[in-house]
Amino acid sequence: MSTPSIPRRAQRLSELGDRRFDLLVVGGGITGAGIARDAARRGLAVALVEREDFAAGTSSRSSRLIHGGVRYLEHGYLHLVFEASRERRRLLELAPHLVRPMQFTWPVYQGARVPRWQLAAALTLYDALALFRNVGRHHRLGRDGVLAAEPALAPDGLRGGAAYWDASTDDSRLTLANAIDAAQVSATVVNHAEVVALTRAAANGPVDGALVRDLIGGAEIRVQARVVLNATGPWTDEVLRMEGTPTGPAVRGTKGVHIAVPAARVGNRSAVTMLSPDDGRVMFALPAGTHTIIGTTDTATPEHPHEVRAASGDVRYLLAACNRFFPAARLTEDDVVSAWAGIRPLVASTNVGDPSSASREHAITTTAAGVVTITGGKLTTYRAMAEQCVDVVVRRVGRAVRKCDTARAPLPGERAATAPGDVRLDEALPWREQDVDQAVRHEFAETVSDVLIRRTTLAFDRKDNGRALAPRVAARMGALLRWTDAGVRNAVEEFERDVHRIFTVTR
Ligand SMILES: Cc1cc2nc3c(=O)[nH]c(=O)nc-3n(C[C@H](O)[C@H](O)[C@H](O)COP(=O)(O)OP(=O)(O)OC[C@H]3O[C@@H](n4cnc5c(N)ncnc54)[C@H](O)[C@@H]3O)c2cc1C
Repeated sequence: MSTPSIPRRAQRLSELGDRRFDLLVVGGGITGAGIARDAARRGLAVALVEREDFAAGTSSRSSRLIHGGVRYLEHGYLHLVFEASRERRRLLELAPHLVRPMQFTWPVYQGARVPRWQLAAALTLYDALALFRNVGRHHRLGRDGVLAAEPALAPDGLRGGAAYWDASTDDSRLTLANAIDAAQVSATVVNHAEVVALTRAAANGPVDGALVRDLIGGAEIRVQARVVLNATGPWTDEVLRMEGTPTGPAVRGTKGVHIAVPAARVGNRSAVTMLSPDDGRVMFALPAGTHTIIGTTDTATPEHPHEVRAASGDVRYLLAACNRFFPAARLTEDDVVSAWAGIRPLVASTNVGDPSSASREHAITTTAAGVVTITGGKLTTYRAMAEQCVDVVVRRVGRAVRKCDTARAPLPGERAATAPGDVRLDEALPWREQDVDQAVRHEFAETVSDVLIRRTTLAFDRKDNGRALAPRVAARMGALLRWTDAGVRNAVEEFERDVHRIFTVTR
């Protein structure tokens, strides 16, 4: 079966002004992309606009896990674990190219906050909440079993542990797959397009659309929609303020930091669950190709979501845990390949205490002027969140041609098979020149950052965050997008600014 093609950007921009939409989704993170896909598949006329790029916000800064969330068991969020486990099972089936089973080892040391008996009980509950239909059931491990699974773990004080299953993903490409599917079905999907104002036909009437600025061409477009849906994650309150109705904050952001370090130094074979030696929080060492990702932190922050970045204190906290569990690693700040941060868009009303114990459940609200807003949630549960959100929209719009089918419909977004003679962008990493072409032609890539940070993970995987590759990628994109020489140079400079903003560690 041939894949429906996505119209060129110029055509999509003119559609934004010409069509009258049932639904305008603001924000192309996993939440907005998932909603646009679901609504388009139900037959609604949908527009999705994203200020930067799909997944440029929190959705490219996650731990990349599709997981039930063992951590949530101790806070009693059983409903969330149940729902997330169900969604994990679905995503493993519907997107095997993006969501893969991952085995975790949880070592237990003498005096650990979670002793062996408690871990066994928790993981039995974890399997039960997945209706015993996870990839595999957990099993208890003796000391030798833990060391056989993960020989680089510290042997001193090790009492035993357990092995259990979750899944990993590429968060940016999962988001992208939803945006692509939405567009292939019928939605008008545009990145680098920012909502700068909400519009109303009458002064105190309902919101009937938005003014959207094309951040590449500069034009402003009036988009008309029966329902405007705010899916802007940590930016939710900024969009709500555009409505002009004073409300309390809808989102309470907490910051989470990850670092990538060389896997060969850590020596982990698969994923390892660790309890922080500083405060006992659950954290992970996660395999990611040639690197191990260590994360995450969870702290209150005043930083703006666009500017949030790792601080050296965050990096030291993560290194301390890794070095305690993998003593031969002896990692220092100089060994860190990359460090980055994201803001969890938690629901404000239900979360006031310790960030780590805050609920990851979501909330759907409608403002006085009719803007539907979704906050909270997780990457893992995005499909279920989208289904509930589109149910609300359908009730408002009064019709849907088809029922929600996202629990059964496979996701697109596979990388193209390797062409003969294809050249890798970095010999040690799987990304090829051909991926740049695919990104531009079929995956909405408009900037070098779109390619090096989100269509590939090169910026996360290289110590220079992809700076040395940027001129080559810009030249290749420029040939496809007809950039001038100055345009190619500007694209490289813009990428360098993005890399500085995202990956610089603050003192
Ligand atoms: C450190 C960390 C680790 C995590 N790990 C996991 C995990 O392993 N598994 C899991 O399930 N969940 C995880 N999460 C949670 C998950 O990543 C988030 O819940 C999810 O990515 C939020 O997506 P979102 O679409 O709501 O927000 P975002 O991804 O931030 O998307 C909002 C988008 O709105 C856009 N936008 C803002 N203003 C405008 C405007 N005016 N016009 C147009 N667009 C606009 C932004 O550019 C942005 O792209 C983690 C979160 C963090 C921070």
